[in-house]
Amino acid sequence: MAAKPQSQYQFDVIVIGTGPGGEGAAMQAVKHGRKVAVVERYSRIGGGCTHWGTIPSKALRFAIFRMVEANSNPLFREAGVNVELTIPQLRKGAEAVINQQEDLRRGFYDKNGIPIYSGAARFVDPHTIEVCEDKGACERITAENIVIATGARPYRPPDIDFTHPRIFDSDTILSLSFTPWAITVYGAGVVGCEYASMFRNMGCKLNLVNTRNQLLEFLDDEICDALSYFLREKGALIRHGEQYERVEGVDDGVILHLKSGKKIKTDIFLWANGRTGNTDHLDLGKVGLTPDSRGQLAVDDRYATAVPNIYAVGDVIGLPALASAAYMQGRAAALHIIGDACAKLLAKDIPTGIYTSPEISSVGKNERELTAENVPYEVGHAQFKSLARAQITNQKVGMLKLLFHRETLALLGIHCFGANASEIIHIGQAIMNQPAPNNSLMYFINTTFNYPTMAEAYRVAALNGYNRLF
Ligand SMILES: Cc1cc2nc3c(=O)[nH]c(=O)nc-3n(C[C@H](O)[C@H](O)[C@H](O)COP(=O)(O)OP(=O)(O)OC[C@H]3O[C@@H](n4cnc5c(N)ncnc54)[C@H](O)[C@@H]3O)c2cc1C
Repeated sequence: MAAKPQSQYQFDVIVIGTGPGGEGAAMQAVKHGRKVAVVERYSRIGGGCTHWGTIPSKALRFAIFRMVEANSNPLFREAGVNVELTIPQLRKGAEAVINQQEDLRRGFYDKNGIPIYSGAARFVDPHTIEVCEDKGACERITAENIVIATGARPYRPPDIDFTHPRIFDSDTILSLSFTPWAITVYGAGVVGCEYASMFRNMGCKLNLVNTRNQLLEFLDDEICDALSYFLREKGALIRHGEQYERVEGVDDGVILHLKSGKKIKTDIFLWANGRTGNTDHLDLGKVGLTPDSRGQLAVDDRYATAVPNIYAVGDVIGLPALASAAYMQGRAAALHIIGDACAKLLAKDIPTGIYTSPEISSVGKNERELTAENVPYEVGHAQFKSLARAQITNQKVGMLKLLFHRETLALLGIHCFGANASEIIHIGQAIMNQPAPNNSLMYFINTTFNYPTMAEAYRVAALNGYNRLF
């Protein structure tokens, strides 16, 4: 084999950011023998995902869930158990998980001999990055290819005073030092709905203000309706189609003035409306790249930007803005750099996992999309309340819904809400991703499932749908 020609650059790949997008790219490239370096401006490894997004929010959610579960268990109640923990107490568990995650991820870079340059990266030219530490010392490094995986941050409108102690965004809410009695969440996207569910489960009065007309409207309608129903059933007040006029912080709370004339006063206010890509300090003008008004970068199906040796992955390119997707996009970009033809397959059909109450997950098409495309599909449902496992665990709220082609029986979409929906979805995904004729509803009808399990929902839903055919 011919020796690789001596490169004029120090590295084959420089990755900016150590979140899931950056990690996916760095690990994939190094495993293929590429010389890789990463740059991270935060003092810790793991990205927003580990430190102020996915991990802390999911750890807090789990701690709240455990407390609520203990308090609502009749056996524990009879024994006099009543756990009343504050948000700061519940958050303590998250710190331990964050530390474990960080150690693990740092180990990946160390074991693979990837140097971590500590400081903020900015472009000097398409192959040169300048890394500047907080103290001001700067160093230049060069590479053949650069992957931008700098993530995103909450968008902050200039007319809202985020220095007010009762006004938060999804980053600062993690430093909340008390449990509020009432909260207004403005913005009903994934982050808004997740925090709304958590605070409601803590017993806080909840106002969820949605700028759109349906919660999480990218989901299947039945799932959106279920989320609205169960949030309302728990006492949440949801207002759709509203826009803020002014957010007024006062000593004992925050008043949200809506353009419709309504006013809502609560203890604290959480802004969860939009995110901005972290591109503003990258000096992208030096390489001729211009982010859009949300700070996001456009990429092609190889995750390459308009500059062919510069790639962008993760939240900095916008939706789906999920850690799971960011990691696969990072791997896909690295595979393209390496010249692997499998790369395009990697970041397709990304499932959604939404950790609301009830939990939601879906993959593939929804009924709206299939109807618009004139696909002859049929539906199969399984209600969790009819499953023995759900009855035993007392987690009866939920449903699995399979959408399949009525002629080929191929699965077209899987939609689920209820306990462990984000785990359950992957059983169906494994079948849906099979090439024809193996992607078939018949798999669930002809397979023996453990009993009692939640997985059994697949057999129930498949039979329910199959019996509709004529
Ligand atoms: C509250 C919340 C909950 C979420 N929950 C989930 C969930 O349950 N499941 C899920 O899949 N996703 C979830 N997400 C989304 C997920 O966190 C993001 O999609 C994911 O972190 C994106 O990864 P990334 O690598 O693109 O960016 P990030 O994880 O944000 O990492 C970017 C890194 O780049 C660094 N950086 C930025 N600029 C520079 C620079 N100039 N120089 C050097 N370094 C730089 C940053 O310091 C950071 O470490 C959640 C997000 C939020 C906010």
